[in-house]
Amino acid sequence: MSIEPLVKATEVSKRFHVQGKVLRAVERVSFELHPGKTLGVVGESGSGKSTLGRVVLKLLEADGGSVTFEGTDLSKVPRKTLRQMRRHMQMVFQDPMASLNPRMTVFDAIEDGLKIHGIGKSAAERRMRVEEVLERVGLPRSAGVAYPHELSGGQLQRVGIARALALRPKFVVLDEPVSALDVSIQAQVIQLLRELRDEMQLAYMFISHNLAVVEYLSDEVLVLYLGEVVEQAPVEELFAKPSHPYTQALMRSVLKVPTSPDEVQDLTPISGEIPSPFAPPPGCPFHPRCPVAQEVCRQKKPEIREISPGHRVSCHLA
Ligand code: SF4
Repeated sequence: MSIEPLVKATEVSKRFHVQGKVLRAVERVSFELHPGKTLGVVGESGSGKSTLGRVVLKLLEADGGSVTFEGTDLSKVPRKTLRQMRRHMQMVFQDPMASLNPRMTVFDAIEDGLKIHGIGKSAAERRMRVEEVLERVGLPRSAGVAYPHELSGGQLQRVGIARALALRPKFVVLDEPVSALDVSIQAQVIQLLRELRDEMQLAYMFISHNLAVVEYLSDEVLVLYLGEVVEQAPVEELFAKPSHPYTQALMRSVLKVPTSPDEVQDLTPISGEIPSPFAPPPGCPFHPRCPVAQEVCRQKKPEIREISPGHRVSCHLA
């Protein structure tokens, strides 16, 4: 018996119309996500990662396909119901400073969300909930009286996470949540996210360009290029057997922690620039940058196909 996923995206697409031109930001992306699991989404800037996160939360309207949350099609729910469902579908942003009101204390910022969603019968109950969540993300209760400018980057991101978690969500989109933090703080926040996921059985969509972090936190990974999935696989399989030349190039372009003092890493940046999403190349969109491109790649777009259970690749040679 298959268990109903918490979040299910089917052939989701999003286009933007800019000065008479069409930008295909997300093209026919599908995935399923279960409680307690993490879907990593990787790709260079402009690959459509953040747009996908916003479309899945219905902060942006999809142009095609569907997203269901606990079996309910988000495109079909009335506004009022969607507002009620939002407490279960939260987002944590890359820059917590930008998402916090500089004139609100940390306590007020977190309590505000509780009030909007009618959580907590009294001020005392809300206070208890805010203090509990601050403690859970590793901040002292006294942090509640601070204003955002009085906190460090790591503390601010903990506030961003606390604000989302105070609503006891089921699904959280984490959009580059550690990329603005110092490396030492990144590890602490990632560890915290992992603990919270396991403890609360949260489902995460974890958007990042940092493959090491994605590997640590994810169960399944989507690799996006120009808005399309080029590879999708369980995390161990993707890192053991990356099958799309773009995934392989991404992996060669990031610095890894060496496993021995003698290990020398062959660090190779991906060649060429990401093409304009307004005019993607014909055939395989990766062909101008692909080191193994063939004539067929310039002529014909590859279809995504399953090469082993749960491992899908869009490449003529895979
Ligand atoms: Fe490279 Fe061709 Fe595969 Fe595209 S289809 S990734 S160009 S080999």
